[in-house]
Amino acid sequence: MKGFAMLKIGQTGWIEKNRPVCGPMDAIVRPLALAPCTSDVHTVWEGALGPKENLILGHEGCGEIVEVGSLVKDFKPGDKVLVPAITPDWNSVEAQAGYSMHSGGMLCGWKFSNFKDGVFGEYFHVNDADGNLALLPENIQPAEACMLSDMVPTGFHGAELADVQFGDTVLVIGIGPVGLMSVAGANLHGASEIIAVGTRQVCRDAAKYYGATQFIGYKDGSIDEQVMDLTGGKGVDKVIIAGGTVDTFEPAVKCVKAGGRIGNVNYLGSGEYIKIPRVEWGVGMGHKTIAGGLMPGGRLRMEKLGSLVACGKLDVSRLITHRFTGFEHVEDALMLMKDKPADLIKPVVVI
Ligand code: NDP
Ligand code: ZN
Repeated sequence: MKGFAMLKIGQTGWIEKNRPVCGPMDAIVRPLALAPCTSDVHTVWEGALGPKENLILGHEGCGEIVEVGSLVKDFKPGDKVLVPAITPDWNSVEAQAGYSMHSGGMLCGWKFSNFKDGVFGEYFHVNDADGNLALLPENIQPAEACMLSDMVPTGFHGAELADVQFGDTVLVIGIGPVGLMSVAGANLHGASEIIAVGTRQVCRDAAKYYGATQFIGYKDGSIDEQVMDLTGGKGVDKVIIAGGTVDTFEPAVKCVKAGGRIGNVNYLGSGEYIKIPRVEWGVGMGHKTIAGGLMPGGRLRMEKLGSLVACGKLDVSRLITHRFTGFEHVEDALMLMKDKPADLIKPVVVI
């Protein structure tokens, strides 16, 4: 079969591989739609996961099952399915401890395009099919379903990590597709003011649609000073970080109130350490919690988030700015994600 792969750090290309083999609890899926992710860009061009050779890329897609293992109970060939980017081993001790995304070791629930070939192949393999797949609701199109693989669960996890509560003032740093879903997640959790950080107009318009009430630009001065100005010197209750760098924690700590929480879902692709400002962190006693996490995957999560879209409470179509038709366009879509033209939020390829 054909797949679009990372050949080595900084280089991509089409390769031929054997079709993946289906274990007794697994499924083999043929993609119906695929989307590239900023994480693919970190992986290939920053070498953020270390050297990988001839690894098929991609972890966002939806598809049709072509084969299931002998122990799979709830799915059969022909079923159309939502596929989460994170596919844990549900019988692991980490999953039993509540951290399924770290099943088998830190970040090891992230298998596609990390420990095994990703979804940018003519076929891809899903471990623990009963635990990880969910049936595609009839009124969700494959392109939109791709947003449920990663953008919705990751963005929403930012709101969970920051523990957004009714009436909270929330700062969302980064309003690419992940940050936009953090805005939507914070809004659904009952945030009052949502201050969004990002410069591109297409993202600002979408952020407003999803519930952002105020905007600042990280290129227009320090984020914390702008937040302090907007909040009359009070700061914010919660911060969600969905963009920026290792340096972004500094303004986040500076402008979150004592007792506040910072939830990070940004993938820190480079830099050795993150810096926490001592004084504004309450000289170590400010009860300013910093939590960072990989999105939870799995079937229950997919079913619940899918139902939000299916019942009309979450419109993910607003994230999709570029649509391609044909598997061969996976390459064009990934290059768009790398180059981030001003009018891009998310590209999708319908097969
Ligand atoms: P995008 O690149 O599309 O968006 C990044 C956002 O951050 C933009 O709004 C950008 O603003 C803003 N930004 C860029 N530089 C800075 C800065 N120095 N300070 C503040 N804001 C800045 O990314 P995505 O939305 O696709 O993804 C966001 C992150 O989430 C990525 O790192 C991705 O790898 C990660 N991720 C994490 C997952 C997880 O499970 N934890 C899963 C999936 C993705 P502007 O456009 O104006 O430049
Ligand atoms: Zn992704």
